[in-house]
Amino acid sequence: ERVRHEGEIIVIGLGRFGSALATTLIELGYEVLGVDSNPEIVQNQSGNLTHVVQADTTNVRALRQIGAADAVTAVVCIGTGIEASVLTTAALADLGVKNIWAKAITEPHGHILRRVGAHNVVFPEADMGQRVAHLVTGQLLEFLALDEDFVIGELAAPDELIGVPLGNTNLRAQYKVTVVCVKPAGGQFTYADRDTVLSKSDLIVIAGHRADVERFSERD
Ligand code: ADP
Repeated sequence: ERVRHEGEIIVIGLGRFGSALATTLIELGYEVLGVDSNPEIVQNQSGNLTHVVQADTTNVRALRQIGAADAVTAVVCIGTGIEASVLTTAALADLGVKNIWAKAITEPHGHILRRVGAHNVVFPEADMGQRVAHLVTGQLLEFLALDEDFVIGELAAPDELIGVPLGNTNLRAQYKVTVVCVKPAGGQFTYADRDTVLSKSDLIVIAGHRADVERFSERD
């Protein structure tokens, strides 16, 4: 009798990205069915995930055979083989999987993935490249784009904000960014408000429109 996979998240393609994703899902307490066409990779991952099977996921029959139709959520982590990534995504859509996520390498790849049925598309290389560009050029220690236009950054409290309650600085008027939270050296993050007074060596997290955050973090 075949194993049923209700409630499991299917992760297809257990390369660097897929295996990191699957491992984190397990750590978060989810059950994961990992799938890869490469027997060596399947061998290496067995024991780490709830179930691991070897299959070529580009055809619907193979997917049905491994019980993919039981799953609500599937993540396609095949990156470099665009054809396999697209065919797998389309096959999951044909099976009626409700929540299909797929990793794309380029914008056109992501566009096709959406067209064939991916509900969510992620661009890990492009996102990470953008993030690292901000880290290496600016004073930002962390950078996260929430969407095209709205971002969050972490940086050391700038001298001009030290010693004055945030409500008495002209940060919002001048730079249009908001300090969300503050972490003193060796301490914990707390929410910032208008009475918060920053000290030297505090870290701050700011949020705002991309251009405003960039202007604020790149000023000197
Ligand atoms: P990464 O950059 O995250 O390592 P890769 O694209 O190199 O990603 O790895 C993708 C994984 O997907 C590989 O382990 C590969 O064996 C697997 N894969 C590729 N094609 C298929 C397919 N048709 N069916 C199942 N797994 C596949």
